[in-house]
Amino acid sequence: MSGESGSDADRCGSQGGADYWSPVVLTPRPPPHVTPPPRRAGPAVAAVVTAALVVAGSVLTVVVQRAQAAATGQVFAVGEPAEAAAGWGPTYVDEQGRPARWDPCTSISYVVQPGWIPDAGRADLAEALSRLTAASGLQFVFEGDTDEMPSAGREPYQPARYGERWAPLLIGWIPPEATDLGIGSGAQGLSLSVAVPGRDGPSLVSGQVVLDASNRLGSGFGAGTTDGEVLLHELAHAVGLGHVLDPTQVMYPQTTNSESQFGAGDRAGLAAVGAPAGCHPVPRARGLRLAAGR
Ligand SMILES: [Zn+2]
Repeated sequence: MSGESGSDADRCGSQGGADYWSPVVLTPRPPPHVTPPPRRAGPAVAAVVTAALVVAGSVLTVVVQRAQAAATGQVFAVGEPAEAAAGWGPTYVDEQGRPARWDPCTSISYVVQPGWIPDAGRADLAEALSRLTAASGLQFVFEGDTDEMPSAGREPYQPARYGERWAPLLIGWIPPEATDLGIGSGAQGLSLSVAVPGRDGPSLVSGQVVLDASNRLGSGFGAGTTDGEVLLHELAHAVGLGHVLDPTQVMYPQTTNSESQFGAGDRAGLAAVGAPAGCHPVPRARGLRLAAGR
């Protein structure tokens, strides 16, 4: 937190629109060139970033192999926070402005890297996911602990470890020196999600949620800066919400001292990407080819 008080700690290193949290986009074709956006603040990153995205300074490009019929179009990361009046904004959109979503008609699997988990970590995570389910209708299924470490280059398709499907959401409290994700130094949490284009709009298919284990926060969801607050924020990123410039919303880019609960804008966004918006079948992981430069 860089010596700041809890009231204005940077939740996930995304002040001013730089996006720590929006990393990997799958595109039908490898982009000819990708320029990493600034990692911190600074002038707003171009409103959208095409093609492959930057993960903590390194590039992971994943291309859809051959003519995967459903996977057409492009996905763009939304670089700027939404205005307060909008209530919420998406993490990713396609050319038509449709937000990337998980399929609410299929459970979202997640695994936990338990190496540095706080005493109350599992309870806080369960509560955060319960609140997310209540607001979005998205269902989460715990698949157990894993020895996999979060990383910028995490492959979203790992058949040897997880079978022939998208890799589950990976969640953990990790010391900054144990990962290349760029947490710490003011970034208390980070969310990296993977999106693929689709005929009916882009799909979220995998991701990582990491909290800084070296800067222990209070447990629960009460006043002050808590693990609960950061979990709600990063998990909401993971299901498709971006930042909004309204400090009464969980998706405000910085922590606040208030109780942690989703606001009206957060809830509207979670409904828009969740079950009320209907089923959203995702392109299958098989047939994808991981490519490019890391
Ligand atoms: Zn954030």
